[in-house]
Amino acid sequence: MNILITGGTGFIGSNLARLLVQNTNYQIICLDNNITGSKENISGLSNYKNFKYIEEDICNKINIDVDLIFNLACPASPPKYQEHSFKTLDTCYLGLKNLLDLAKSKKARIFHASTSEIYGDPLEHPQKETYYGNTNIFGPRSCYDEGKRIAETLIYEYMNKLNVDARIGRIFNTYGPYMDKKDGRVISNFINQALNNEDITIYGKGDQTRSFCYIEDLINIISLIAFKKELIDKPLNIGNNREFSIMDIAKIIYKKINPKSKIIHKQMPINDPKIRQPDLSSVKKIFGWEPKIQLEKGIDITIDYFRNKSKSI
Ligand code: UDP
Repeated sequence: MNILITGGTGFIGSNLARLLVQNTNYQIICLDNNITGSKENISGLSNYKNFKYIEEDICNKINIDVDLIFNLACPASPPKYQEHSFKTLDTCYLGLKNLLDLAKSKKARIFHASTSEIYGDPLEHPQKETYYGNTNIFGPRSCYDEGKRIAETLIYEYMNKLNVDARIGRIFNTYGPYMDKKDGRVISNFINQALNNEDITIYGKGDQTRSFCYIEDLINIISLIAFKKELIDKPLNIGNNREFSIMDIAKIIYKKINPKSKIIHKQMPINDPKIRQPDLSSVKKIFGWEPKIQLEKGIDITIDYFRNKSKSI
């Protein structure tokens, strides 16, 4: 079986590649343009016979023999997708369209990484898959939020008119080893700030909430969705439903690393969602799946990862 992972050098892609290369005999092809990913994330995999890396952009037509595609290609942190806004839009539509055409021509299945951002600043809480969302179509987050929404619509058409076997996971906030320490997301920011004796930057008052999933749990449910034989005809929320305020997250992290850290408040980004928590009843019903790793444990492993990484530089 040939498996293509696009976004293969990114945070989720490289963790998924490692899991599949080390635990299966499938041929794993990681493809990335490295706009936000890094080859360093897959450096340990090049010795494996069942691993291959291709530097390429999914916005270009790709012709590879594949049975299963994981589409994890797209800048995903707010500062990065805003910096690469045109590429983000192209990746969400043109890039995905290329992969759907590839899936169609090779009769391959495709798993697509959607996002909780399609719910925008939600007016329903927790967010069920049936909620249509509250997104701004004309703002700095729109390239990602609306890009990911049109991506789901494109998949709907390929599933219904062209019989492509596609599955959609709406990924909620995720953290863990192989995050890019400079990509601006909250957990990597707070850990690296505390490790470097820098101020902890809370945007706004810190009363906005998020629900954080440890990467191992996330790639576990992504795999269950992608490898399930029976069709799945609807998008599924995936993540962890334990909700924390950003202030709580800051306190948990700095107490573990540097209790003397100072918190400073910065301006709240435009259209930053105030609350977020997935309703996970669909994945629980289909797979009997629930996340296992508690935030405190996942944070400890992530702190160790960044500590070791800074030592090795
Ligand atoms: N945030 C923060 N300080 C930081 C980075 C992020 O207070 O240094 C906040 C951000 O405003 C948001 C939340 O943490 O409310 C999660 O941000 P992140 O960029 O990790 O992901 P998002 O859920 O916004 O995509």
